[in-house]
Amino acid sequence: PLNCGIVGLPNVGKSTIFNALTASKAQAANYPFCTIDPNVGIVPVPDVRMDRIVTMVKPNSIVPTTMEFVDIAGIVEGASKGEGLGNQFLSHIRQTDAILHVVRCFADPEVIHVAGGVNPQHDMDIINTELLLADLDTVEKRLTKAEKAAKSQSATAAQKSELSTIQKLLVVLNAGKPARTAELEDDEKLVARDLFLITMKPQLYVANVDEDGIAAGNEYTKIVEQRAAEENSEVVRICGAMEAEIAQLEPAERAEFLEAAGLEEPGLNRLIHAAYRLLGLITYFTSGVQEVRAWTIKRGTKAPGAAGVIHSDFERGFIKADCYASSDLFALGSEQAVKEKGLLRSEGKEYIVKDGDILFFKFNV
Ligand code: GDP
Repeated sequence: PLNCGIVGLPNVGKSTIFNALTASKAQAANYPFCTIDPNVGIVPVPDVRMDRIVTMVKPNSIVPTTMEFVDIAGIVEGASKGEGLGNQFLSHIRQTDAILHVVRCFADPEVIHVAGGVNPQHDMDIINTELLLADLDTVEKRLTKAEKAAKSQSATAAQKSELSTIQKLLVVLNAGKPARTAELEDDEKLVARDLFLITMKPQLYVANVDEDGIAAGNEYTKIVEQRAAEENSEVVRICGAMEAEIAQLEPAERAEFLEAAGLEEPGLNRLIHAAYRLLGLITYFTSGVQEVRAWTIKRGTKAPGAAGVIHSDFERGFIKADCYASSDLFALGSEQAVKEKGLLRSEGKEYIVKDGDILFFKFNV
């Protein structure tokens, strides 16, 4: 499954947020969650549509879809040159699909700040620079060999596009910009993908605020938001300490707590949804009295590919998918009404599954 790595300077609240995310798994009963590694958490994706389907269908079992978060040990200045956990840190982050960059936006004098004071601009610069330098190192190491190969008489098209990709990436990285801002042709994108560059991954900022900064933000979040806007990145504002508290509560207490705080849902839900979007993921459902289940696919996946997430046989033997939108189900009140309105469609191999679709696959075995 795709995953998100949580990065940031030490003491910004990464572990607090990671622990809250993994503790929230208690919210979803009936699902065997496993811990792969203390730093890897499998987290159910909260979905109000799923809750509504469950209320209507009353299935025997409910299975939410999940995503993976990885807590990546503190990066420090000089990590790209091997300082601190340098290389280890970088190899972990290379294996993730997207990056959540936690920035400290709470003052608390009790919590030591590694750089002497709360300063989001400076903190973001340190992390982003280390990631950039690591990528620069990767790309530079490939340059000489790529130049040689591309210059030879027998150079293939692939070797030529490797060189042009590397040259474009060097320009962008040397200008202090992340690799994801490079304008690459389709063949170059394939070359770039194989470089596993960190700054090629989508990134969002998590502004970790105190409780009183949740609603309107504070002087620090403004800085993060401005920086994010310049990069076309999203910012999610949450209070890690409070999320950790909420995650420990029993469901009934949790509802009370949220109501008292004037919140509709835990901030973590917003974070999980933002991470899901960042990865380009959407959800479809299978629904029956036995089981209601949510499944994750990449946006743009066609019906057979979506079936393949359930079982490869479903993809291989795909015939068609009966399909309707969960929004139609909610608007009309029952599956029967959806059918009577003619909104249950039969879709073929070329159908691009939409977020919130309810699907029933027909396949040959
Ligand atoms: P990490 O090094 O980035 O993983 O940071 P931790 O999650 O270990 O947090 C460092 C310290 O900051 C801990 O003492 C946390 O309790 C505290 N902390 C985390 N989030 C918040 C927050 O939202 N507000 C305040 N005041 N303290 C927090």
